[in-house]
Parts: sequence; structure tokens; C-alpha cells
Amino acid sequence: MNSCPWTSELKTHLKNLVEMEPISPLPELLDVLESSEKLPEAMQPDAIRTPLERHQRQALTFMHQRELGWALNGSRPDLWEYMGNNQRHCFVNHVSNAYQEEEPEDFSGGIIADPMGLGKTLTMISLVASAAPLHNSVMDADGVVTSATTLIIVPPPLLGTWEEQLSEHVNPGSLTWCRHHGKTKFTGTGSYNEISIVLTTYHTVSAEWKSHGEHSPSVLFSTRWRRVILDEAHFIRNSSSQLTRATCEIDAAARWAVTGTPIQNRLSDLTTLFSFLRVYPYSNRKQFDADITNYWKEGNAEEALKRLKRLASFLILRRRQNTIQLPLRRDLQCAVELTGTERAMYDEIRNKTVARIDDILYESSDDTRPVEYTNILQQIEAMRMVCNLGLYYHARRGLRDLTQKNSESWASIAQQNFDFQGEMGGMQCRYCFAVADTSARLLNSTQSQQSLHLSKCLQLICSDCISKSQPIDCGHSPSCPFAPVYLNPTSLEETSLSFNHLEYVTSLPQAVKFPPKITALVTQLKALPPGVKSVVFSTWRTTLDIIEAGLNQASIQCLRFDGTIPLKERQAVIDRFRQEATPSVLLLTLSCGAVGLTLTVASYAFIMEPHWNPTLEYQALARIYRLGQRNEVTTVRFYVRDSFEQRVMDVQNSKRQMAAVLFASQDSTAGPSLASLQNLRSLL
Ligand SMILES: [Zn+2]
Ligand SMILES: [Zn+2]
Repeated sequence: MNSCPWTSELKTHLKNLVEMEPISPLPELLDVLESSEKLPEAMQPDAIRTPLERHQRQALTFMHQRELGWALNGSRPDLWEYMGNNQRHCFVNHVSNAYQEEEPEDFSGGIIADPMGLGKTLTMISLVASAAPLHNSVMDADGVVTSATTLIIVPPPLLGTWEEQLSEHVNPGSLTWCRHHGKTKFTGTGSYNEISIVLTTYHTVSAEWKSHGEHSPSVLFSTRWRRVILDEAHFIRNSSSQLTRATCEIDAAARWAVTGTPIQNRLSDLTTLFSFLRVYPYSNRKQFDADITNYWKEGNAEEALKRLKRLASFLILRRRQNTIQLPLRRDLQCAVELTGTERAMYDEIRNKTVARIDDILYESSDDTRPVEYTNILQQIEAMRMVCNLGLYYHARRGLRDLTQKNSESWASIAQQNFDFQGEMGGMQCRYCFAVADTSARLLNSTQSQQSLHLSKCLQLICSDCISKSQPIDCGHSPSCPFAPVYLNPTSLEETSLSFNHLEYVTSLPQAVKFPPKITALVTQLKALPPGVKSVVFSTWRTTLDIIEAGLNQASIQCLRFDGTIPLKERQAVIDRFRQEATPSVLLLTLSCGAVGLTLTVASYAFIMEPHWNPTLEYQALARIYRLGQRNEVTTVRFYVRDSFEQRVMDVQNSKRQMAAVLFASQDSTAGPSLASLQNLRSLL
């Protein structure tokens, strides 16, 4: 700490206001999938103007090899190998050591699973640029035409990211690309023949799969593509959803899945990817279970792990984050103190909340608990607001007592409840166990109109299951009322506590000081040398509003990037931040800024409040700490000392999942259990 002039200087500035502590790094999960093999480096493709890093050229080698199909002749280690002499012929499976006489179905493709920030998008663009020059489609012996075009399927917010990366890295004129999305869609087979890359979204694939038929044939499903690439492929982890089934139906000569998190919750996440890849025999979940998962279940974890490692070494490329030499990164947490008045306000809400939980623990019935629970979550949000906004938060304007409403009002608070639970770790569909969490939500379309249904006893039913199973039920008899809820990413950045903060901010006398977090942030930004750029993340726009006011007062210019900026203007904001010397501060909401953006022009990142789900914070930090970063990086997380926020940080630092703490013994049908309420109480 003392070796850093910036923080030590800061410490003397703000002796009692700010105290910085370094955070110990989290261990890299998914270690078991890591690739150890030293791959040779492929040539830099002519069409790519950005010099590729070593690990990217190695990835190219891996992908070129995998696109040749199985190495049956043993030229390199592979899943399948031909063994034979004059008497016998067979094919050996090097994962299970089983053999068969029949030649295994060929397979071309694999999983690129490098962690965030290693330049996977450029790597995949290089594959398209290097594997085969653009030529006309090829017809095979069966009369099936393979187009020369690569189809890339991405979550909606990443369409722009891909186009931007293509423009940035590809030599003009050497590759062509276009969107198949929204109003820009092609019809008729072969209409893409002259184009190297077609970009589309999972939702387009899903929608066209449904309507595809004789009368309205879809180009996506009547083409055999040169290759198909899934970006953020964990998007299809729910194997029974329409979106997943549609994506798996895409026909292509080579199939690639790109994801930083090939395993999110369970080993079975991998089997969904294998079934997309159509890799024999592990596209069959039963075979995967028989050869790997069952060893685990039978207590032979060592053998299961060995087999999984072997399988991964053939099909999955995953390198460590430290494969690339990024500049040093310092992670700091910054505790701030509330002032006397703020503390009193905080304590008042806190004590009310605790008393309320105690009431529920002793008095409520299963019937009223969910509504009470929403009330409590709302009060916790109020506590978080005080931590961010201090006296700018005006409690009495905001809090509505939800229990005062009659039972018909479930529809009016269901979304709020869903948002809270999504933030804390997600909810699972009662029928198919699909997870609806914040990470999934951020990759969703901003205009997603598809609803899920949440029952008053907090049972969730996903949109796929709603269309398949009517009537839906929660498990109670008679069934509790259901209300539609939406996976709309931007609703997260609005606080549910409805009050007109802008009006309130402007009505405040000048004498009211900015809240301590904002003061600490402004002080730190002021102390930065000129030319240094910073990004500031908060969950809520309200916080960004007050920060903006604080920065204005300190004559620091800033840019905003949040859900109120129209989609078509967002790129201009990012371009300006990257290209112009000022403003040097970019304010972002987590829901708009945590995925897809490359902000390596900044070397400081500030996160205004701890999040229930730390993954979201890592995603946000990866915007600046990634390939292309040339400067030392400092990340600062703010929290209020001796508050609920500090407890949340403690849980995060102990590497436990907040969801596991909160929903430890949640009964699958009874909504929030008493135990989870007790756990929640312990955080307050
Ligand atoms: Zn479902
Ligand atoms: Zn129920």
C-alpha cells in the first residue's frame, strides 16, 4: 500500500473518511478444464491487421486442428483413434478406454473457454479469416450445399460489440459481414453466399425456428453453414428451452461454442454444450453420465476428474487469466463512515427491518410471508440507498407499505420481488430448473417482451414452460395467484423506491454536503493525474445522478452510459470516451455496462456499492482489465463501514455464494424459509 504514492497520499488526505484495504484475489474456478498442452503458434492471418498475441495464435492452431475432424490416425492425441492390424479393426475412445468397431461419427469444432478479457472475439474472427479464403459454396456427394459463410450467434447486446471488433481488427476489404436481425434480414437460400460472416441473435434463431416451414422458410435453417459460432454459449445451458433446441438445430460443417464459463452451476452445463457441438458420443447425456458423472456419484471422484480432464484436453481450450501479461492490478476496498444524521437514519430503517423480520419469524403464516418478504427486501434496498445517497435519500417519500394492499396487488409487487431475488442469485423454473439470474438478464434483449410467471408463494415458471404446460401450478392446492414478470435488464437500474430524486436534489440547500461515498469518490478522482481515465459503476441511476452533481460541483466532466441512453446513441458515448481527452470519467450502470464493452482506455474502476452477486462485479472490472490494457489498473470498491454492506463484503470475501447463505435451506415449495430469513437478519 505504501509503495503506491496515490493511495498513501490519499490516506493522509482523508485520514478518517477513507481507509483502503487490499483484497486478496479469488482463486480461479474451473481449474480442472485448463489446457496444459503447449500448442504451436499459427501464422498471423493476412486479413487481420491487429497483431495477434501468442495465446491467440495457439488458439488458432487448436481450432485449425479441430476443424480437420478426429485425428483417427493418431497424429495428435484425440478422443478417438483407429487401432487395427490384419485381423481386427476398432476405434478406441481415449476418455473411457472403450472401443467399438464402427467408425465414430466425425466431429469438427470445440469449446473456446478462455476467461474474460483474453480476446476471444478477435481469436474467433481470426479463425474465419484464416481457415479458408472466401469461395463459393461446395456441394457434397449427397447434394447438400455447404455455404462458405460463418454464422455467429450472440446475445442481443453483443451485436454491436462484434461489428466494432470486426471493423477494428480486419483489414478493409478482406472480410465482409452483415446482420441477420430485426429489420435487416435476408430471405432465400444462398442470399449470403458472398458474405464471410452473418451475425444474428439467439432470439432471432429461436423465433425463426418456430416459424420455419414450407411457407416461410428461414435462411438460418435452410443453409448448411461453413461454421457456426455461439458467443456467450452458456446462454443455452437450459437444455429443454426452445432457444436451446433451436440453436442446436442449426446445420454447419464446424461447430464452436465460446464461453468464459462453460460450467456455471453443474457439470450438466457441459452436456448442453456437447449436444450443441454434436460430438460423438458425448452429445448423448446418458453416455456422458455413464463415462464421467456416475463415477462421481459412486464416490470415485478421482477417476471422474481424470476422465473429465482428458475429455477437456481434446475438446476444450481454456487458458489461465495470467496467460497474458497484463499490467499490475491493485484491488482496493474503501470503507466510508456515515455522518451522525445519516447513521441515525440508517439505524432507524435497520431497526425497523430487523423488528419486521422478527415479527415474521414468530407470527406470519406461509400465506403472508412472501409479501412480508418483499417488504423486507424493499427496506434493505432503502438501507442500501442511505449508504449511497446519505441525506439525499428521503425515506418517507419512498417506502410504501406493501402489506397494506389487498391480496390482488401481487401483480404489482411480483416484478420487484423477482428483481430482488434475481440480484441475489437467481431463481429456478419450477418445472425445468432453468435459472433466471442477473447474468442471464444482462445478455437479454432490452425489449424482451416474453414474460415469466411468479406465484405469490415465489414459485417461478419460465416462458418456455408456460407455453408448454397449461394450467400452471405452484404446488399448493388451490394454486396461489401468479403474476407475469420480465427479464428486462434496465429495470434493475431503477430503484423500486419511487421518489423524484432529481426534484429532491435540486431542492436541497447548497449547504447539504454530498454523501460520504460521493465525497470519497470525488476526492479520489480529483487526486488522479491528468489524462488518467476512470469508469464508475453503480447498480442504480439515482446514485449516478448524485455522482454527476458532485462531479459538476468539482468541475469534473463526465459521460453517462445507462438505460436511458437510446441504443443507437450508446456507441457514440463509448467512442467519445475512448477518443477524446475529456471527459475522463464515465459513469455506468452495472446492467448496461457490465457486459460487452471494451474500456481499456481507463485504468481506474470504482464500484459504488457491493453487489449481492460478485460475478457481476468481476464482469464489470473485466471491461478495463483485459487484453489491450497498457497501464497499471486500480479497482476501488466502496462500502459503508459497520453496515449491511460490510457484511455483504465479508460474505463475498469468504468466497461463499450469497445465494447459498440466503437460501441455505429453502424449501422448494414454501417460498422464503424461516432459515433464509434468519440468515438475512444476520446480515443486517
Ligand atoms: Zn421452465
Ligand atoms: Zn403456492
